[in-house]
Amino acid sequence: MSRTKKGSARRDKARRGVGRLHHEVALRRNSALHLLTKQLTSRFATVAIEDLHVSGMTRSARGTQERPGKNVRQKAGLNRAILDSAPGELRRQLTYKASWYGSQLAVLDRWWPSSKTCSACGWQNPRQTLADRVFTCDTCGPSMDRDLNAARNIERHAVAPSAPHVAPGTGETKNARGVSVRLPAPRGRKQETVKREDTSPPGMVPPRQSNLPTSPNPRQEQAKLF
Ligand SMILES: [Zn+2]
Repeated sequence: MSRTKKGSARRDKARRGVGRLHHEVALRRNSALHLLTKQLTSRFATVAIEDLHVSGMTRSARGTQERPGKNVRQKAGLNRAILDSAPGELRRQLTYKASWYGSQLAVLDRWWPSSKTCSACGWQNPRQTLADRVFTCDTCGPSMDRDLNAARNIERHAVAPSAPHVAPGTGETKNARGVSVRLPAPRGRKQETVKREDTSPPGMVPPRQSNLPTSPNPRQEQAKLF
């Protein structure tokens, strides 16, 4: 498009081509996000996310005229990378799909230092910054990828009996067009009805009992109608 003359027919054709490509990218991203959130909520009993302050995290570093900010371009790139992953839409989809597929979405407090805490011993590194891609513990010594370390911290908090931030979702059972959606049997439901001898290997943690009020199962309600 940059090599075409303004106002020409070729420019218009090139413009439509660029627009089509952007549209196709948008469709693929949308599809990938839906696939991911369905996988997460239908394969796992609990999905944990952090309640991050996205608008604050992606604020520009430009500053004011009297006090100009530092590393403005770098921060702009980071902001683009953060927003590229569509964090708000990811959370929105996880919330309603968790209730579709019978899993729980744990939302952890944004002030909890998941990146600065050692997932093995709990030691906190106050000097850990975003530039440190590896977390190294001064107390017990292991070093691992910073995101893996943070994910282990989030997991531990999400499955702890005291996990306080469990959102049950919206209970939505209709799709975007208002048509009732057939829910797959929630995972773990079968195990409750079948008398289960404890055949699990020693040391295996039993699935956590939900402390949420049991939401009416849309399938059972349907069954009542017949
Ligand atoms: Zn440690």
